[in-house]
Amino acid sequence: MKELRVNGERLWQTIMETAKFGGTAKGGVCRLTLSDADRQVRDWFVRECEVADCSVSIDEMGSIFARRPGKADTPPPVAIGSHLDTQPSGGKFDGIAGVLSGLEVVRTLKEAGYTTNAPLELIDWTNEEGSRFTPPMLASGVFAGVFERDFAYSVKDRDGKKFIEELERIGYHGQKKCPDHKLGAYFELHIEQGPVLEAEKKTIGVVTGMQGQRWYEVTVTGQEAHAGSTPMHLRHDAMVACGRMVEAINKIALNHPPFAVSTVGLVTVRPNSRNVVPGSVFFTVDLRHPDDDVLLHMDGELRERVEVIAGESGVSANLVNNWNVASMEFDPECISQVRKAAGALGYLYRDIISGAGHDAIYIARVTPTGMIFIPCEHGISHNELENTTPEYIAAGANVLLHTVVAYDAARNAAMR
Ligand SMILES: [Zn+2]
Repeated sequence: MKELRVNGERLWQTIMETAKFGGTAKGGVCRLTLSDADRQVRDWFVRECEVADCSVSIDEMGSIFARRPGKADTPPPVAIGSHLDTQPSGGKFDGIAGVLSGLEVVRTLKEAGYTTNAPLELIDWTNEEGSRFTPPMLASGVFAGVFERDFAYSVKDRDGKKFIEELERIGYHGQKKCPDHKLGAYFELHIEQGPVLEAEKKTIGVVTGMQGQRWYEVTVTGQEAHAGSTPMHLRHDAMVACGRMVEAINKIALNHPPFAVSTVGLVTVRPNSRNVVPGSVFFTVDLRHPDDDVLLHMDGELRERVEVIAGESGVSANLVNNWNVASMEFDPECISQVRKAAGALGYLYRDIISGAGHDAIYIARVTPTGMIFIPCEHGISHNELENTTPEYIAAGANVLLHTVVAYDAARNAAMR
């Protein structure tokens, strides 16, 4: 068993094969949730899972569960999952690498004639991206009890089409109730979507948890005025105040190295005219840190800086904190199995905290969960240029294989 390795070439070919469903001219993928391309890749996935001797079931959110029998049928399954949907101009690997590495694990175990003690389940979660139907991680959220099923059904896309209607249209509205489906453990492989592993020349990221996150909306109100006839000292320029705030917000993260990040990513200037002093600016703030206490401290600094700068600039500022996610840690046993597998396989690895949301974040609320990161080129993701190498994917899939097998064996030994 120790010598067992996935077929990296087959895995790469499989990823390239699925990239055709919704493939774009620039080499990316546009496979929005519950679109025709999503149905095509699902149909393909179900067929391949059946060829690999799995029995397939669909739950009430359209998530696909492919079950490979274990020696015993009663223990809850050890699961591997991620998502096959993409952003409108997404890449070939985000989510897909995780699901198809799972498929490669199942194929490898079949060829080796190895049967786990508990059943194995391979999962494709519906609507991880949240681009067509917001919020993201919708099906894993319902699975974990974060969202109500009927709320998810009622969510509409920009054309007014409801989630449930589109789920039925593509033929993936299953019967199995989310709360009735129990998992014994959950592992997810994902591209890092950041530059750290590549920069440090590490092959595997042992994901220990996710950072906390706080979102804000700030409206700065000054006074519109003529750009030619209003002297500088008599202006109430909302954009100048905003500019100072953006710099201050950047400093808040710089003052809490190495983990803090802060971003102003959306700005709307009114009236947005070249010869009018801006009267109003709306902008968003995204603050993240793995330690919730530090994040709260950053929250205090943000409020203080915005107020002080508004006062100095002769404008008013209204700050609303509209979304928070607490930081979380994955299961110590799952983390340790990933770390051990990476070490035993001889890959360079490091612990890492996820900067992005993943289905695993929600599943961790209901089952012991671990994640494996692999590098992606220049950290680029949610982009048609997203790239990684066959070697990295194969390494990640090997870690996934050995993690799952070791976790299953350890749990079986503990139950005896
Ligand atoms: Zn993803």
